[in-house]
Amino acid sequence: MTTEEIITRGDRVLMHTYGRHKIVLDHGEGVYLYDNEKKQYLDFAAGIGVFALGYNNREYNDAVIKQLNKLTHTSNYYYNEPAVLAAEKFCKASGMDRVFFTNSGTEAVEGALKLARKYYYNKHGKADSEIISFNHSFHGRSMGSVSVTGTKKYRDPFEPLIGGVKFADYSDYESVTKLVNDKTCAIIMETMQGEGGIHPAEDFVKKIRELCTEKGILLIVDEVQCGMGRSGKMFTYQYYGIKPDIITSAKGLGSGVPVGAFAATEEVASAFVPGDHGSTYGGNPLVCAAVSKVFDLFKEQNILENVEKVGGYLYKKLDEFAGKHKDIIVEHRGINMMQGLEFKFEVKEIVNRCLENGLVLIAAGANVIRFLPPLIIENRHVDEMIEKLEKSLIGQK
Ligand code: PLP
Repeated sequence: MTTEEIITRGDRVLMHTYGRHKIVLDHGEGVYLYDNEKKQYLDFAAGIGVFALGYNNREYNDAVIKQLNKLTHTSNYYYNEPAVLAAEKFCKASGMDRVFFTNSGTEAVEGALKLARKYYYNKHGKADSEIISFNHSFHGRSMGSVSVTGTKKYRDPFEPLIGGVKFADYSDYESVTKLVNDKTCAIIMETMQGEGGIHPAEDFVKKIRELCTEKGILLIVDEVQCGMGRSGKMFTYQYYGIKPDIITSAKGLGSGVPVGAFAATEEVASAFVPGDHGSTYGGNPLVCAAVSKVFDLFKEQNILENVEKVGGYLYKKLDEFAGKHKDIIVEHRGINMMQGLEFKFEVKEIVNRCLENGLVLIAAGANVIRFLPPLIIENRHVDEMIEKLEKSLIGQK
């Protein structure tokens, strides 16, 4: 099919839930994507933070193909070896004791919320617990995860959502303490807000950890976007030096196959008993073979070291860029391979122009461009990105 045919036919049959760019992606290699007309794009979005290991990683592909040819699905009524290996590696890397594999980040959040509520139910002998979340947060698209997402446009059309959810302001400690009461079972927060505009919050997260410990509230950290190496540690809560009670993960966890996870300490995880939660596909051998290989390759290819090294260079270059364009850029924020530039105006036009110039970037909210490259980028890719971004500013000043 030609590009035009694919777009026209796609627009006819796919639901209109995305404002898609009018290009058709065909394949990828390393940190580059190619469309079906052979145009090359430097990718600083990684499929919204998914492709940690870059495109077409041979060893990753081989591991997935090997499992594909063996067994892709069993259902969770039986054990499978890739799931056990993936779970062991996940627990070791995260410091959690037990994990449940899901098919997406949204489902990981759903599971985490259910686990927190079940823990409270067991402890207090009653339901009706409350959850505190944050304004401008993003936790997914299902009814449960939308219920804890603090962004009006994602919520309003779908009311009534699940009850017992209250919203505080991210980085405003007082706004949280005001909402805490005897019914509070959990506080859910992104360790670094992503969709809300790239906001790291080390001191705030540490204070919330202390508050949760003091009040006997569970701390759920959503690491779907900021986890799996983006900070230079496997998870951003490790970068901050805290331990949550429940974590969620996805995106880079599968590095291309659809998989998510929520994990918890032994004490919290033991609230779930057979029948409390489940998934037909969740944790199938195919995706778990991928997860297992991702953890191996992180070690073998020194991914975290690269994130620190090149992430530092990216920070320096974006800082220089923000300084040079003070007239249009409000702030530069982020950690290592998850950074953002906040502009004084909507960035849609710049993102479109970047694409025309062979650079894939995405926005976070209306005014922020976010940088979520594959974790294997090198300094030369940062230089190429800056050059293309600079070129794409023409007409904005
Ligand atoms: N939580 C966070 C912090 C996210 O950024 C996202 C997606 O961007 C999700 C949850 C939902 O993940 P998924 O799109 O895999 O369902």
